[in-house]
Amino acid sequence: MYDLVIKNVRIDQLKIKDIAMKDGCICKIGSISEPANKVVDGEKRWLLPPYVESHVHLDTALISGKPFVNQSGELFEGINIWNKYKENFLTHEDVMERAKTVIKMMAGQGVLFMRCMVDISDPQLTALKALLEVKRSVAHFMTVQLVGFPQNGLLSSKDGFLQLEQAIDLGVDGISAVPHLEATREKGVTSLEQCFQLAVKHKKFLHIFCDEIDDSQSRFLEVVASLAIETGLHEQVTASHVNAMSYYDEAYVRKLLDLLKASRINIVTAPLINSAMQGRVDASPKGRGITRVKELHEAGINVAVAHDDILSPFYPLGTGSMLAAGHMLLHLAHMTGEKDFKTVLQMMTSNAAKVLGIKRYEINEGNQANFILVSAANAQDLLRRQPVAELVVANGQILAETPKQETKWNGFLEMPRHL
Ligand SMILES: [Zn+2]
Repeated sequence: MYDLVIKNVRIDQLKIKDIAMKDGCICKIGSISEPANKVVDGEKRWLLPPYVESHVHLDTALISGKPFVNQSGELFEGINIWNKYKENFLTHEDVMERAKTVIKMMAGQGVLFMRCMVDISDPQLTALKALLEVKRSVAHFMTVQLVGFPQNGLLSSKDGFLQLEQAIDLGVDGISAVPHLEATREKGVTSLEQCFQLAVKHKKFLHIFCDEIDDSQSRFLEVVASLAIETGLHEQVTASHVNAMSYYDEAYVRKLLDLLKASRINIVTAPLINSAMQGRVDASPKGRGITRVKELHEAGINVAVAHDDILSPFYPLGTGSMLAAGHMLLHLAHMTGEKDFKTVLQMMTSNAAKVLGIKRYEINEGNQANFILVSAANAQDLLRRQPVAELVVANGQILAETPKQETKWNGFLEMPRHL
């Protein structure tokens, strides 16, 4: 007896199949007639693996305008607001409540894995302690990875490394550095070297905030790639943002792409916030705010697209929709060719799963039963219309259902007789 059977779903787009689950796993894909505790008609909808969010902040989420508004919209005003919020309003309960709201918001939209950045520059590590509790409480449906991230720099802030070590003791999954925010290039390089040493010592993955600045001289990505090779950490290293790469000259980019390929590190791009935050001090024409996504992908480097901030001091928008992030990426990266839609969908699913190191993520018999059902014909249709995830299945259980949005017409389409 199966726990759950969903009949009539499109898994490889064309063929209609049934899918059966037991004890949280996919038991069978094909034509299923055996009994089940629950049988649902999939109505020929598309069954996809869940979306994977590879870079999000839960501690800064949902505080835009509460009470501080980032009037300039710029990064440094955002950092000041966040520092003021931490001093005056940040409590364990506050972080728990906001984080759970965002997790629910994203899970309802089909995200079942997320890598979450946690600011560890607060001496009490309030946000981290709260998020460790949240992580445990949602583990039955959402996999949360926590990354200790020093918002004010590792070397340029007081006790930066001490706090990172404390975060490791408390149980973060991964660690980070922000080399471009350190006072000098040399301090940026040293912060990376020390961060890599800690990662090796404590067996943590690395998720570096890297070159998130419109400065062609910000070249920490080469250091990250080089250290990934030297330490042998390779795929366990991810560099986020790296939008400075758009400002590098072509000869250097060619050398850098070879180094990145050899390093096997992952790149995460966040087109929603970066399109709003970057390019602000450029003269016209202004930069598009993101890194060289198309070139990185074509060079064989694993690139994922992330949603990132949701109503934070840095970004007054955001709904947690991965499709919104993908839609923005299509535009900014000039990825509107026929094959590009599938590529961008992979960047929010399988490529992002690779960033997080998720095992057995695909829709196969024997794998964990995590998937979504959407009404979309293909990747282009999905990204164009951004339909809701009508059914979200987590660990073999139906977690959430969202009805398809449809417009009801009231008959006024026909010309009334009196007009
Ligand atoms: Zn971020």
